[in-house]
Amino acid sequence: MPEGHSIHRLSRAFDELFGGTPLAASSPQGRFAAGAALLDGLPLTAAEAYGKQLFLGFGGTPTGPERWLRVHLGLYGAWTFTGTDSFAGPHAIGAPRRRIGEADTAVAGDTGSVDDDGRFVPPAPRGAVRLRLVGRDGCADLTGPSACEVVTGPEKREVIAKLGPDPLRKDTGAAAEFAARIRARRVAAGALLMDQTVAAGVGNIFRAESLFLCGVNPYRPGRDVTDGEARELWTTLARLMRRGVRTGTINSTGRKTVPFFVYHRAGEPCLRCGTPVREALMQARRLFWCPGCQP
Ligand SMILES: [Zn+2]
Repeated sequence: MPEGHSIHRLSRAFDELFGGTPLAASSPQGRFAAGAALLDGLPLTAAEAYGKQLFLGFGGTPTGPERWLRVHLGLYGAWTFTGTDSFAGPHAIGAPRRRIGEADTAVAGDTGSVDDDGRFVPPAPRGAVRLRLVGRDGCADLTGPSACEVVTGPEKREVIAKLGPDPLRKDTGAAAEFAARIRARRVAAGALLMDQTVAAGVGNIFRAESLFLCGVNPYRPGRDVTDGEARELWTTLARLMRRGVRTGTINSTGRKTVPFFVYHRAGEPCLRCGTPVREALMQARRLFWCPGCQP
């Protein structure tokens, strides 16, 4: 499942590639035909990420966008961008030909063409495209999301109110809020970090690597994590995730050959102490830690 940094990259990509321009919206697969009709022809006026949720604002009133598209990619969802050579953001985020889901990958094959008036002509939809957004120079195709719906401003706020703070947002008091949410529970710290009501946007890789870097055993109950440790976890998550937004990949070691300290390194020696990295299942997700560094 894409972690929060990918969704923040997507919000930037939408803003850079489509911001302010009217988009043609359709549902080639048909399942989102009614929703697409509500967006068709409106300009994209906002793009925001909160945790693993992407919100695209369409149309506008003095108080904000007229309506919002809410997308959660879930396990299998992805956005694929194709376009002309001018369809590229200053952050080179993926366009003109890029697929952003579990990983960022280049797109091969038919990537569209340009007609005699210089307008982009999208390629035939590949796979079950739930939503296609087309601008003058390129298009974005959404496949396999776990959530895709048109919501009002108040409905968007309700979704966000249920989430914990997002390490990639600069909301005031977020670190204290996170520490309080961790320390209020007797659930294992490793499970709490994956709970989107504790921290929004953290997935399996950031969970494993941040607990390692802060020396916290994943089975320690949240209420036994000190306030100082919880705040260090927060700043570590924010640092790792910001780097992910910048580069499009997750690398916590700074090394090319071994990008992770413990994630997917079961049985291999810890990079810091040499103890073999352990693996276990926690709430049906693979968990990795070093018993030496995280006693
Ligand atoms: Zn170690």
